[in-house]
Amino acid sequence: MHPETLALHSTPFEDKNASAVVPPIYLSTTYERDEAYELPQGYLYTRAGNPNRQQLEQTLAALEGGAEALAFASGQAATLALLQCLKPGDHVLVPDDAYYGTPSLLQDFMNTWGLSFTKVDTTQPAEIVSALRPATRLIWLETPSNPLLKVTDLRAAAAIAREHGAISVCDSTWATPLLQRPLDLGCDAVMHSTTKYLSGHSDVLGGALIFKESGELATRARQIQTLGGAVPSPFDCWLVSRGIKTLAVRVRQQAANALALAEFLEKHSAVERVHYPGLKSHAGYAIARRQMSLAGGMLSVQIRGGAEDALRFMKKLQLFTMATSLGGVESLIEHRASVEGPDTLTPQNLLRVSVGLEHVDDLIGDMAQALAGL
Ligand SMILES: *Cc1c(COP(=O)(O)O)cnc(C)c1O
Repeated sequence: MHPETLALHSTPFEDKNASAVVPPIYLSTTYERDEAYELPQGYLYTRAGNPNRQQLEQTLAALEGGAEALAFASGQAATLALLQCLKPGDHVLVPDDAYYGTPSLLQDFMNTWGLSFTKVDTTQPAEIVSALRPATRLIWLETPSNPLLKVTDLRAAAAIAREHGAISVCDSTWATPLLQRPLDLGCDAVMHSTTKYLSGHSDVLGGALIFKESGELATRARQIQTLGGAVPSPFDCWLVSRGIKTLAVRVRQQAANALALAEFLEKHSAVERVHYPGLKSHAGYAIARRQMSLAGGMLSVQIRGGAEDALRFMKKLQLFTMATSLGGVESLIEHRASVEGPDTLTPQNLLRVSVGLEHVDDLIGDMAQALAGL
């Protein structure tokens, strides 16, 4: 079945009480045992399992083509759970351009767990190979990456990991399961911040891990999920599940809007550079064509000049809200270097744009008026 259909029909729900078409939210933290002292539906206590969470997990597994999925309270909780599957002494490769929270978890949190890590340009398979150590157990991938939209060849990177006896995990938040399927390309697991496109309305925090196989790794991660308890609430699961129903129509329109906006910006004399994998000028264009069905709804733009010019441009915009995060229906814009702090490698004149569902002519018009005043 196609993802549009899976999003709606992969986890049929039957409401024996009211024949409701939309599933109710199960707030109960505890579940009754029957005469035989069994748990009739398998639910015991909501940290260990909840109908809304199970439905979300099954839908995510179906969308990514995985054997099982785990839902977490945030994307960071999902990443952390995966890292906690590793053992002290293990070494991790992370992309040099990635969601800043991922290397931060390794540097400031999992350092006491005894994990070491190296940042590497994962767009260059030869650089991945030369960064490998005997202790390398995990190659973390993120494509397209945050905030430079670098594109990593997932098939090549996953093959390097497999050959080395390491696991490969892809943060596929920006691509969504609609545009990119890392498990089909050889990755062992996929991570999503469901806060973003999957929920799609900037009103719920969540994360997920989806595993290709139900093996040792998935079992360990489930243990961390249910014992550690960084689980999403039933309402959070319900909201993400609702968002998934419209994922395909939202993301397709956002990708079309982003491409048109990127093409407009690239031609503008006040723009130094546009980072969008759907542009022929992008270094990852050919790989993106191969492994993504569309280039997505995120782009970054470098305004000619420095941080002040970028900030001045941004403040003139009417339709792009200055806020962090992404993947919602409304367009957002952010000066990443300010958020990432003094050590950031992100260019000072770079603005990251999450393109929303406004009419693209209005979005282009707004950017045109703000650029004209520079
Ligand atoms: C937002 C984001 C995360 C972190 O997810 P949270 O839900 O904020 O914890 C991780 N990776 C990417 C690519 C993101 O955009």
